[in-house]
Amino acid sequence: MILIVDDAPENIISLKIVLEKNGFEVDTASSGDEALKKILKKSYVLIILDVQMPGMDGFEVAEAISGYSKAKETAIIFLSAASANVNLITRGYISGGLDYISKPVDMNILLLKVKTFYRIYEQSRALNEMQKKLLEEIEFRKEAERKKDEFISIASHELKTPMTSIKGYIQLLERSVDKNDIATVKARLQKVQNQVEKLNLLVADLLDISKIESGKLKFNKKYFNFNEILDHIIEIMQQANPDVKFIRKGEINTEIFGDEMRVEQVIINFITNAIKYAPDSNEVHITSEQRGNEIYFSVRDFGIGIAKDHQLRIFDKFYRVEETSERFQGLGIGLYICQEIIERHQGSIGINSVPGEGSEFYFTIPLHPEMDAKS
Ligand code: ADP
Repeated sequence: MILIVDDAPENIISLKIVLEKNGFEVDTASSGDEALKKILKKSYVLIILDVQMPGMDGFEVAEAISGYSKAKETAIIFLSAASANVNLITRGYISGGLDYISKPVDMNILLLKVKTFYRIYEQSRALNEMQKKLLEEIEFRKEAERKKDEFISIASHELKTPMTSIKGYIQLLERSVDKNDIATVKARLQKVQNQVEKLNLLVADLLDISKIESGKLKFNKKYFNFNEILDHIIEIMQQANPDVKFIRKGEINTEIFGDEMRVEQVIINFITNAIKYAPDSNEVHITSEQRGNEIYFSVRDFGIGIAKDHQLRIFDKFYRVEETSERFQGLGIGLYICQEIIERHQGSIGINSVPGEGSEFYFTIPLHPEMDAKS
């Protein structure tokens, strides 16, 4: 929009008519004061400003608006008497004017100038927009880079921990072998075995992440007995965590269609987290039941719980609750993989949790999913 500032109404009217005829939106002010008030409220692309006005003259108006943020990109054309001397013209430029036209105004020249200013304005706006986008993009790169570095450092640490344990147990094993102490050898071998299994799971998760990224996570779906795999998982979990009390509710008396190993992976992840994030409790409730034409499975713990704002992001890749990330080791990829697996079974995954009281992670899977071309 263009603002015409002139104390002579006849000048305003003639300029306004010509500019509006040429498709420009026009606003008017008949004094410096009125112009300032308008400029405070609205952004103008261009101000056509009469130099000689009673009260505040055009130069004073230009100087005053140079500090307005709303007028940062506004161009000013001064209208001055034909007799204007070099000093006046110079003052016009110093006070912030970009151009001047002498009266009586040659409408053709004025229109050409207005059109040029509009073009420059549009171009500079486009440039600013582009610069903003580029800066945002650079920030986003930087952020991705930072996340990657952080992930590499956490992943190396996570891999190093079981490695160090394995090294230590093997040294102890050597001594037990030398002593021919078979019972201790067996116990230590079991410990090595547990750490190797941990390493194996970590590496498998890392591989899954890259498969998800490249769209290569394959599923081998067939009908299988959910109860059987759940019994088996709980048995193994119980052996590895003899102090934990697993309380099982419900059962599923029909076969479900899916990738047995992948569904098993989700169940193990839920249970492992339920034990890990509840160090002061030894109870885990496991529910499995048929609800209409889907199965519902949940794992409830009585641990640290998760605040609402974190709950929304818990299934994001690499997301870990910052406040507890030092206390509990992890990579923040398990739940992300679980979500991918459940979604690829056309199911849903979710959480109910109260900080300090515990969490319940659940998933549903349709009993008779539509055949999925991707799987
Ligand atoms: P990891 O446990 O390796 O960090 P996950 O993807 O399994 O990765 O979990 C992501 C985050 O969700 C964890 O870092 C933790 O902050 C939170 N979380 C997961 N399960 C629980 C739970 N049962 N109780 C509290 N917080 C949990």
